[in-house]
Amino acid sequence: MSDCLFCKIFNGSIPSNKVYQKGKVIAFHDIQPLASIHVLFIHENHAANVNEMNSSDVAEVFSAIKEWTQSQKLPSSGFRVVVNSGPHAGQTVFHTHFHVLGGESLGSFGRR
Ligand code: 5GP
Ligand code: ZN
Repeated sequence: MSDCLFCKIFNGSIPSNKVYQKGKVIAFHDIQPLASIHVLFIHENHAANVNEMNSSDVAEVFSAIKEWTQSQKLPSSGFRVVVNSGPHAGQTVFHTHFHVLGGESLGSFGRR
């Protein structure tokens, strides 16, 4: 999609602070981190929300999350994967992205 922020980040026409790249998946630091570790994983194929993604693309993203979190030794301390979808979840960028948060004890989750 020519007018999508995260397509542009994927193809490098908008810069990002990348931490991971393999195949059709990249991860980069969130510009407004909400935890000491806050990175966004995206797939090259544009999809507006997670339900629009091919399941094989979702699987590719989760393989990337597994590989990267293990490389950072995050599984022992713990981490959180969040995919906001639609207005109630506060989605603001309509190219599906998987937030990975960690590096500290994370707050409660849900309404508050
Ligand atoms: P959402 O609210 O849609 O789940 O998350 C969008 C995320 O993208 C937010 O956490 C926001 O800080 C991040 N974000 C928005 N614009 C940019 C950008 O240009 N670069 C980076 N690295 N992150 C961005
Ligand atoms: Zn896109």
